[in-house]
Amino acid sequence: MKCENCTKKECSKKKKTESEDLVEPLSVTDGEEKSEFHRLAEAGIFLSDCLACGNCVTSEEGARIFAQNQKEFFKVLNLNKKCDSSLHKLVVASVSPQSVPYFAVKFRLSVCEAARKICGFLKSIGAHHVLDTTISADFSILETQKEFIHRFRRQTQDERAFPMFTSACPGWVQYVERVLGNTVTPHICTAKSPQQIMGSLVKGYFASKKNLSPDKIFHLTIAPCYDRKMEALREDYYTELYNCRDVDCVLTSGEIMQIMEQRNISVKEIEESSLENVFGETSCGFARHESTSSDGYLAHVFRHAAKELFDMDVQEISYKTIKNKDFLEVCLEKDGETVLRFAAAYGFRNIQNMVLKLRKGKFHYHFVEVLACPGGCLDGKGQAKTVDGKLERTLLREMEEVYSHVPVQSPESNPQIQTLYADWLEGAESQKTRQTLHTKITASAQPTSRLDMKW
Ligand code: SF4
Repeated sequence: MKCENCTKKECSKKKKTESEDLVEPLSVTDGEEKSEFHRLAEAGIFLSDCLACGNCVTSEEGARIFAQNQKEFFKVLNLNKKCDSSLHKLVVASVSPQSVPYFAVKFRLSVCEAARKICGFLKSIGAHHVLDTTISADFSILETQKEFIHRFRRQTQDERAFPMFTSACPGWVQYVERVLGNTVTPHICTAKSPQQIMGSLVKGYFASKKNLSPDKIFHLTIAPCYDRKMEALREDYYTELYNCRDVDCVLTSGEIMQIMEQRNISVKEIEESSLENVFGETSCGFARHESTSSDGYLAHVFRHAAKELFDMDVQEISYKTIKNKDFLEVCLEKDGETVLRFAAAYGFRNIQNMVLKLRKGKFHYHFVEVLACPGGCLDGKGQAKTVDGKLERTLLREMEEVYSHVPVQSPESNPQIQTLYADWLEGAESQKTRQTLHTKITASAQPTSRLDMKW
């Protein structure tokens, strides 16, 4: 795995200090471009403070991730060219909405044009279908909304109902499972992330429509970060019966760009092709949810909860910046009383502060959208960083700009969702919906006992 925040030399330095617990301060160049990792390393961060952010992985994990890399993808593409059709697989690629702005900026195109170019490129190298994944984020948001309402109504019987944390960011979920353990796991929403819902859709619904068993489909996702590679490897997302995973391979936006560069393909040469939905129809537009950097859980759940619980229609959401631009607060007031208190906490520094307050019993939010990357998913380490781990600020700004022009779609307004709840999941409240769209958040056997983070 390409480690974005620390170079190989720094990783080995870190390994050496494992027995000593303290990470040696690293020698880095001065200047505002220093990565967060480097700044923290200079401050003397302890290994027991590991955030499991996916930036430096263990060798076992590194090997598992390697098994997911480009080689695996090209092996399947090569087998598809051989005469033995028993080895052939249908190659389905799912493109994350936060990856498309990266290509738009790199190609100097609109987001819609970039989506068609990337679709055309993936088809030119052997993908049979390239799917728009907005629908999987729709499902994830709707299931998160339902869980929030459920928790709100039983908060008097369950002291750990609130705060409820989102589960869409694998960097954050992994940190909770490995480091924070049982004190925080019950607070995490059980709805699967958009990537893994897409996995269920492709290996479940799409496979059955194609009369194929799940192992006959190779499912590639294009994502903004490396953490999603780790997520695809979770036990929950493996089906023993077919010996296959819901997502077989994750390539970051940067890795796809690298493949294009290695093949010396210019954007002009790529024939445009439209993304498809899981019904096999081509989709002409490209939509996002109500956020310029994430899937917009905070905004959608807030509006839904205001209506469902207090019969209030929220027009404009007004965000209050608390301490820094990556910690935002949104409140709903009724009759002079605050009835809903929501927040967005992005980046591990804000996450750490939040967790410290939670432990002291001083964190009084109902809902928090948590993302490991400071700028949200557009800032993912698989696309917004230079090779030496620095944030590409101009690129990020441009991505935010182009993404903000994409039309907003609410999950409730997607008619395909209702069709899938009815035809595939036996109803929105069924056991099948619960099993298919939710996962288990479980503390690892030995989460670190160090709670006194040094931040
Ligand atoms: S916030 Fe960062 S780590 Fe989390 S899913 Fe988005 S890009 Fe990946």
